[in-house]
Amino acid sequence: MHLQWYNLDLHIHSVLSPCSTWDMSPKKVLMETRKKSLDMIGITDHHSVRNYPAFCEQGKLCGIRVIPAIEVQTKEEVHLLLYFRTYRQALRFEVEILKNSPSIIDEVSAIKPQCVVNQDDMVIKVEKRLLLFSVDLPLHSVIKLARTYETLVILAHINRPAFSIYSQLGFLPPDIDIDGVEIYNYRNSELLIPHNVGIIYGSDAHDLPAIGRFVTQAWVNEPTWEELRLALRNIGGRLLRRKDDS
Ligand SMILES: [Zn+2]
Ligand SMILES: [Zn+2]
Repeated sequence: MHLQWYNLDLHIHSVLSPCSTWDMSPKKVLMETRKKSLDMIGITDHHSVRNYPAFCEQGKLCGIRVIPAIEVQTKEEVHLLLYFRTYRQALRFEVEILKNSPSIIDEVSAIKPQCVVNQDDMVIKVEKRLLLFSVDLPLHSVIKLARTYETLVILAHINRPAFSIYSQLGFLPPDIDIDGVEIYNYRNSELLIPHNVGIIYGSDAHDLPAIGRFVTQAWVNEPTWEELRLALRNIGGRLLRRKDDS
């Protein structure tokens, strides 16, 4: 193996997120992913990883790696992206986080149903519990819980005017235990980012055209969770950059 550039979009919502479109199914998303020359994607539904198996299987057919991931909304309404080494660990985290969450029934008439699907885009379950909410845990407790699993902790879209660390807290707590931050829209704002954390760029795609609009390029041995972990820390010559820096 040798280091080379791979294209990653680590922030994509599937049909399980109430805010995504019907098109965000495994076959369609992976077809779009291939069209956009991406090598690895993260399916980051709100508080659930249940669509990971379908995307993972479909990804294998297309030669594209999928990482199990969850986007959490903390009590302060800060969005966190968590990338797990294994699906099993992500599932265990999901169970824990849902114990600390309000149980609101999804009013299907108001939003698109939240669908768990199989790799052939067939709906196998409709999630009745609304997945978009704030968990009843503050940011530091969510991170502490996440750290009991093998996961990478990334502050989502830190330069957005809503649901970001800066919009909700106004500052980055100096002792915050994160692996990286995600910048939306390639705008490297003047926000203070500690130099010991990695930076990723993601599209936060809720529909097909948005997939790959912002891409992280990783200089790694292969597109895997472990290599991403090393790249976030610039270990062994590994790097991350935004795609249009090439
Ligand atoms: Zn978000
Ligand atoms: Zn998102």
